Amino acid sequence: MLAHLLLEPGKISYEEVETPVPGPGEVVVRVSTALTCGTDLKAFLRGHPKMPMPTLFGHEFAGDVAFAGKGVRSFREGDAVMAVPTAPCKTCYYCKREQENLCTTIMDNMVLGAYAEYVKLPAAVVETNMFPKAASLDYAEAALLEPLSCVVHAIDRLQVRPDDTVLIIGAGAISLLHLLVLKSAGVHDVIVLGRRQYRAQMAEDLGAKVILASEPDQAQAEIIEATQGRGADVVIECTGQPSVWERAIHYARRGGTVVLFGGCPSGTRVSFDTARLHYDQITLMSPFHFTPRDVRKAQTLLSEGSIDGRSLITGTYSFPELHRVLNLLQRGQGIKYALVPQSA
Ligand SMILES: [Zn+2]
Ligand SMILES: [Zn+2]
Repeated sequence: MLAHLLLEPGKISYEEVETPVPGPGEVVVRVSTALTCGTDLKAFLRGHPKMPMPTLFGHEFAGDVAFAGKGVRSFREGDAVMAVPTAPCKTCYYCKREQENLCTTIMDNMVLGAYAEYVKLPAAVVETNMFPKAASLDYAEAALLEPLSCVVHAIDRLQVRPDDTVLIIGAGAISLLHLLVLKSAGVHDVIVLGRRQYRAQMAEDLGAKVILASEPDQAQAEIIEATQGRGADVVIECTGQPSVWERAIHYARRGGTVVLFGGCPSGTRVSFDTARLHYDQITLMSPFHFTPRDVRKAQTLLSEGSIDGRSLITGTYSFPELHRVLNLLQRGQGIKYALVPQSA
């Protein structure tokens, strides 16, 4: 089969590799659509600790079961499916406490290789985190299951109220997914703090009030003004920059919650104003990954049409054009791109 390999930062190659063969319980999916993700872009630009190179890459996908391994009962060859690239072990300390997102082996067998004609899913994924794709969903929307599961995990822990004002920092794909989930949960006032006109426009089209500010003091003044002088009930940081994490606590109201969603580069540190945290009782949350419950909920949101993710997909390109698409993303153009096999 043809697959993209990430050879070293900045260098990918689309080449012939061996088509995967499913072992017991495993499934090989013929990829119909793979989506770009911020993680892929980061890995492409500067490498990734969990992806020693050369490596297959891409982890957001949907497709059809091409080969089912021995013992697979729930799926048959030809079934249209959607899945996330990881599954918990179900036996470790964290799994037994329903914190499967923290499972000690959650990242060990992560599926990589969605930018390829076929991708192999381990038995644990097939058993726990793979679903039939509803006919109403196109493959690109179905491929949003993984990022949406991360967002559902964060928002479910928040227990947001419909009358909350929620500020989302950043206007990329993950921010817009937060916006869609909050809207589907009936939250009326969502503010998106962005820097780029194109993405901000997108947020506005999806129902957010937008604050465009490149300078933190100006942003803070506008947020305070937009929230009757209080600050937001909930702040969700989606940029993954330490300086923005530090700033985020100043955008929340007294008693507010700040969700530090965007992962920062490893080795970085932040410092917070202790008086602000303590005397204004700011709650910090730092959600990571997702549990099988989050995946099921995300799957339901997509399948029932509560989330319309199509607007997040800026364009569709064929697999050989991946390099070009990564360059577009590097320049900040577009939100997410769909990659499809050449014949499609
Ligand atoms: Zn992703
Ligand atoms: Zn576990």
